[in-house]
Amino acid sequence: MEPRDLSAHVAYEAGRGVEEVARDLGLDPESLVKLSSNENAYGPSPKAADAIREYASRVHTYPKSSAADLRERLADRWAVTPEQIWPANGGDGALDYLARAMLDPGDSVLVPNPGFAYYGMSARYHHGTVNEYPVRRENDFAQNPDTVLPHYNGERIIYLTSPHNPSGSEVSLSDIEAIADGTDDETLIVVDEAYGEFSQSPTTTALVEERDDVAVLRTFSKAYGLAGVRLGYAIVPDEWADAYARVNTPFAASEIACRAGLAALEDDDHVEQTVEGVHWAREYYHDNLDCRTYESAGNFVLCHVGDGSAVADAAQREGVIVRDTSSFGLPECIRVTCGTREETERAVEVLNDVI
Ligand code: PMP
Repeated sequence: MEPRDLSAHVAYEAGRGVEEVARDLGLDPESLVKLSSNENAYGPSPKAADAIREYASRVHTYPKSSAADLRERLADRWAVTPEQIWPANGGDGALDYLARAMLDPGDSVLVPNPGFAYYGMSARYHHGTVNEYPVRRENDFAQNPDTVLPHYNGERIIYLTSPHNPSGSEVSLSDIEAIADGTDDETLIVVDEAYGEFSQSPTTTALVEERDDVAVLRTFSKAYGLAGVRLGYAIVPDEWADAYARVNTPFAASEIACRAGLAALEDDDHVEQTVEGVHWAREYYHDNLDCRTYESAGNFVLCHVGDGSAVADAAQREGVIVRDTSSFGLPECIRVTCGTREETERAVEVLNDVI
């Protein structure tokens, strides 16, 4: 007995965890600073953590009303209908639902390279094939009609990431519109705004109201600090929003996730602290790292260090875990997440020593 042919599939490479690295190096996990997975340095929203505790005693029931409440609350937030909100197990889960809803076997998708690996993984799970458009350092990692459309060949979905992981670059609304205008009516543009809260640019959600071929991805993993809870969602056009009922895994977001999400949406103080901290850390990296850094609108900064893997290994031995971007096809770089003040200062000290 064998699974189907998975030779085109690749495993997701997550940033290394504190426990894992501490065990390898024989260090105390408490002494490590983890800046490799773009998590929230300030922890979860305290209101969300309270909600998780409060609802722990109610997890024997399926999450029906909490999911409805969350969809309504998010619909209010984005001025769309609740049907247009597709909650999922993280943004990753929402990517799966979009692929499930769109792809017929053999359809292809167009993904950024370098870019977030899960777009292609998700498409392959859904029997799609994956083509790439280059996001080049020489073009400041731009995703625009000039860099995307020459590589377009009738794909069913094009993924844009704004802010882009791992570079931090952004895509303008007018460029998103021009890309959507330059593709077939049946090509969906998915704009991944997982890091949207850290950007000062307008969200793409306005376009979702105006046209039926643009969808937006958002997550609670970053600004709300709920990466471990797994809660994200897509915002999709009204015209085909009802497809969710036919593609979602029943109870797509858990009771705990929905309650945590609802509470986090009321926790303005936590989001403000997080976003301010990120803006500070980004500047601190730009101003103090002894290497070229790229302008970033996310909670991380891409740094040109020469040999990313050697620098990441050396920094790790000093207790600072950063992301070697070789797996993104950028072996000369590392990506450093914005930490608290103390973590960010320590990261700069260690990185400057090892660069
Ligand atoms: N999009 C991008 C660009 C990301 O970097 C990530 C997570 N690292 C996600 C989506 C998905 O995050 P999650 O599934 O935790 O919501």
